[in-house]
Amino acid sequence: MAARRVAIVLVMTLAVNLAVAGTRFFLSAQTGSAGILADAFHAISDSGANIVALGALWFAVKPPDAAHPYGHRRFETAAVLVIGFFIALTALETAREAADRLVSRAYPDFSWTALAILSGTIAASATVAISERWFGRRYRSELLLADSRHTTADLFATFAVVVGFGAVAFGAPLLDPIAALVIAALIARTGIILIWMNIQVLVNSAAFTETEVMREVLAVSGVADCHRIRTFGPRNEAHMDLHVRVHPDVPHENEEALLAEVTRTLRRAFAADVNVVLEHQLCPDVS
Ligand SMILES: [Zn+2]
Ligand SMILES: [Zn+2]
Repeated sequence: MAARRVAIVLVMTLAVNLAVAGTRFFLSAQTGSAGILADAFHAISDSGANIVALGALWFAVKPPDAAHPYGHRRFETAAVLVIGFFIALTALETAREAADRLVSRAYPDFSWTALAILSGTIAASATVAISERWFGRRYRSELLLADSRHTTADLFATFAVVVGFGAVAFGAPLLDPIAALVIAALIARTGIILIWMNIQVLVNSAAFTETEVMREVLAVSGVADCHRIRTFGPRNEAHMDLHVRVHPDVPHENEEALLAEVTRTLRRAFAADVNVVLEHQLCPDVS
């Protein structure tokens, strides 16, 4: 089952994130770098996000029941929304810490060993980002794809930390807290994007445009017209319903086959849960 494999990928991601967080806390304690500390907090918030995601998966795989006839996918959406808020909070915390160091002029002690270890954590995160995207596409998991986008953004953040910390060796210690501020901005951006995307799903924004759906439906022979197209949900598991007007030339006994053909076409094109209402001259929604 795909959900189980998604969970395994998430657990491995969580393990890497915790290891990376531990390494960075150790390095920040050794050097007093604001940038590295910011990145350590960041890795902790990422681990928290992984745990929330695992919890959501647990609910999302449950089959539809009487209380949740459309299934439990929105639990995943809600969880990703919570992750977004956590990430935004981390951004605020990171920015405050960086501003503090900037004002108090508390500069870090540079060491090449610390720089080398820090660079190693970039390699670890890059591996996570790439494998999450690969598995996310393969298992059609919004959760993994969202986390992969996030981990990729994190790579730039850690790179900024490496530059900021490295600059200490070249007599530019101010770059360290500035790098921390850059990270704060990147973390905030990730959080806001996640919040925005998942609010779209929660408020039932259209999953596909009318044009996209009409193109598929009108290509089925025997269809005269289609309208009242409604779609919602995440694009990889949307729901859609629509009215399809039968062409006057279609004999009555062929209508069931036409209905089946339209439904099959839409399922194939959009991987969606499809509900088609066939009509002749009169639309049931117009009185
Ligand atoms: Zn992150
Ligand atoms: Zn109609």
